[in-house]
Amino acid sequence: MKKRVIFAFILGFVLALVFFHLFKKEKTKGGVTSFNNHFEPPYYEKKVFKLPKELEKKASVSATLKIPIIMYHYVEYIKDVEDLIKKRLDINPDLFEGHLKALKEASYKTYFVREIPDILEGKIEYSSRSAVLTFDDGYKDFYTIVFPLLKKYQMKATIYVIANFIGKPGFMNEKEIKEVLDSGLIELGSHTLDHLYLKLIPQTVARKQIFESKKILEEKFKVKVETFAYPYGAFSKKTVDLVKEAGYKAAVSVIPSMIQSKENLFYLSRVRPGIFTPKTMIKVIESYKN
Ligand SMILES: [Zn+2]
Repeated sequence: MKKRVIFAFILGFVLALVFFHLFKKEKTKGGVTSFNNHFEPPYYEKKVFKLPKELEKKASVSATLKIPIIMYHYVEYIKDVEDLIKKRLDINPDLFEGHLKALKEASYKTYFVREIPDILEGKIEYSSRSAVLTFDDGYKDFYTIVFPLLKKYQMKATIYVIANFIGKPGFMNEKEIKEVLDSGLIELGSHTLDHLYLKLIPQTVARKQIFESKKILEEKFKVKVETFAYPYGAFSKKTVDLVKEAGYKAAVSVIPSMIQSKENLFYLSRVRPGIFTPKTMIKVIESYKN
């Protein structure tokens, strides 16, 4: 009997060590959560991808349009194989170029997120062969890997930069952001000051994150910052109201869909690049129905 108790105790201890080790790796290695010490939900927390209850409507009143907005994060060859968060948010540069090639070969046109309100109003010509490319967080690899490829294929993209992370290790610096904006191929959007979980923080803090990031980016880069991305895809009705009040024209969420309308202008749906291979990309987009 005594032996069993000792054995169970040792087994429990070993399991606890293993779990602690795994958990620690997930939390502290690179990626989005490691530089944010305010609130760290798992990045792909399922529940934040749904529309908050208070924003649900019974029936849609405005027309819908299929506008695939693809949500990229890292595009690089990851050296640290244990970096699980980064791995989950990454696609490799070959695959990314495959996406651009597939879009180009099928004569797809790319748009900025800031053009979506006018597309939905019918003010901008829009063909069904269109896509919007977005890149969250402002990582260095956007400058070193993504931007040269966008130039090569002459495709537009919207970047969502975290104002206080500009120039930090792993992130683009001011000079690099200026250079990508000068190309005319890139829209600059805000992703707050510090990548906070807006849904759960005090309203005064959320307001500052949403308003001041816009102001700082506009002053630094002398461009209008017209669209916003919610860190972790987390927002509430109050967050949406703040984003509208700050003067943004649209915002992107991580609710997975390709269907957009005037009603979801402040929580536009996006899809993850992992759902496409270069071969299937066009087929997946064209056969997509909500
Ligand atoms: Zn982010």
